[in-house]
Amino acid sequence: MSQPDPALDPHCLFCKIVHGHIPAAKVLETYHAVAFLDIHPVNPGHVLILPKAHHPHLADLPDELSAHLASLLPRLCRAVRAATGADGLNLIVNNGMAAGQTIDHLHWHIIPRFRDDTVDWPWPQGEYVGDELGQMQFRIERELSPADDESE
Ligand code: AMP
Ligand code: ZN
Repeated sequence: MSQPDPALDPHCLFCKIVHGHIPAAKVLETYHAVAFLDIHPVNPGHVLILPKAHHPHLADLPDELSAHLASLLPRLCRAVRAATGADGLNLIVNNGMAAGQTIDHLHWHIIPRFRDDTVDWPWPQGEYVGDELGQMQFRIERELSPADDESE
């Protein structure tokens, strides 16, 4: 895998954590990734995991780095579940301001959930009408490059 981008975005809070300029309660660190406790947890044990390199969105992430981050998730989930006694976990990535992203450095939320917790979830869901589902399937498939198919 290529070296992490050494460039620090001076406006990015998570770059400052990655580079040790502000403190964080780190729980896991590799050469390319770091995980630490969210300072305002949805529930105690809420962890964030991110690439050290500054990438705003998941769509910007090189496949290899994405695979490395994904490879860390099962172990991190097991640790959070065991440490908190959680009954379940939500893994969430907010991509873009419209989706609730407030820090422009890609990160996964790992949120411990309890049967009796008061977290307001799930969000409302709708229905497709007529051929809307097929149309949407077509539009997304059309945007996927042939290279994506070959990697399966
Ligand atoms: P998002 O809204 O998906 O961009 O999530 C950003 C998260 O970063 C929020 O859940 C914040 O509570 C969390 N956060 C903000 N500042 C810090 C910090 N200094 N250390 C740890 N987590 C933070
Ligand atoms: Zn950053």
